Amino acid sequence: MSTDPLSWLDERAAERVDAGLRRQLRERVSESSAIDLASNDYLGLHRHPEVVEGAIDAVRRWGTGSTGSRLVTGTTTEHALLELELAEFVGAETGLVFATGYAANLGVVTALAGRGTLVVSDAGSHASLVDACRLSRARVAIAAHRDVAAIERLLAERAEERAVVLTDSVFSADGDLAPLAELHRVTRANGAVLIVDEAHGLGVRGEGGRGLVHELGLAGEPDLVITATLSKAFAAQGGVVLGDARIRAHLIDAARTFIFDTGLAPAAVGAARAALSLLRRDPSMAARVLDRAADIARIAGVAEPDSAVVSVVLGEAQVAFDAAQACRARGLDVGCFRPPSVPAGTSRLRLTARADLTATELETIAEVLGDVLATARGKESVTA
Ligand code: PMP
Repeated sequence: MSTDPLSWLDERAAERVDAGLRRQLRERVSESSAIDLASNDYLGLHRHPEVVEGAIDAVRRWGTGSTGSRLVTGTTTEHALLELELAEFVGAETGLVFATGYAANLGVVTALAGRGTLVVSDAGSHASLVDACRLSRARVAIAAHRDVAAIERLLAERAEERAVVLTDSVFSADGDLAPLAELHRVTRANGAVLIVDEAHGLGVRGEGGRGLVHELGLAGEPDLVITATLSKAFAAQGGVVLGDARIRAHLIDAARTFIFDTGLAPAAVGAARAALSLLRRDPSMAARVLDRAADIARIAGVAEPDSAVVSVVLGEAQVAFDAAQACRARGLDVGCFRPPSVPAGTSRLRLTARADLTATELETIAEVLGDVLATARGKESVTA
């Protein structure tokens, strides 16, 4: 028997290499000149002088770290202002900021659902919602992707008094939208709370980027909770839960990822406030993200997306990986999703649009993607 307790990792690594699934960290070396179609910086604000200044100013006033839990020393007036501003922006009663979007999802789900609760989650919900289900100790049911009828059945037939339904508003892999209006009708009719992760909706969908919940006229509904990250359109870090004041108060009492996590760093709070302020001043930024996504979709020969995410399904993991590498070699930074992030046989390039993409950049994108996708699609049709 091997005495090396880590030898199983060598076997696991070999399996992943064989399957073309080994992941590598790609370091960004100083300011890259590559065209960014891989990040979630949807509004292109993460180097904007006002956002950078917002972070620096917050650090000067509050220091580099928040110094403690939000319950002890980790809440500054900057945190409180950000919560008010975000709530006002999306049309919610209150907001509560967490250290990450991941922590916000874990916190709100585990605080609202426990033993004796049914949690129903869309099969495409983000990994943080999946983990939240596992942590909650509730009975968990996974409904097929965007299947409102299945969710309605599960809610109607439940034995539990309380129920919570989880979904992304914009799904992160494909960029498709949840049927939120129907979902809310069903959750309300069945006495359930609807939790909507707007990570990819805020800054992109809705009037001036107020999100899909706002766009559908559902903002401020007391039985609907929004979660979001500050790391995408808002160009910072952190997460937020937006909703009814009773929920906020309960989270402060009961959400473990709020209570036992250090408060969000002042720099991130300052940056997020500055980004939100820029978006309010130029609400057309949100529509520009969707326009640029439509441009990229046309170039890639796929349907116009409903979000910033342009998903170009290529098939086998190796084909998608090679295509991504070819793009990167020619100065186009793209995302590549392979199993387990997406189902086997649907590996893809994931291209994200930015509000600030220029006409010159779009020309380069057309040139590079045209070549790379022709090769990748040729390859796939030969191996298929
Ligand atoms: N929800 C969704 C839909 C996401 O895409 C992400 C980030 N990848 C998160 C939550 C987690 O947010 P954060 O990165 O702020 O932890």
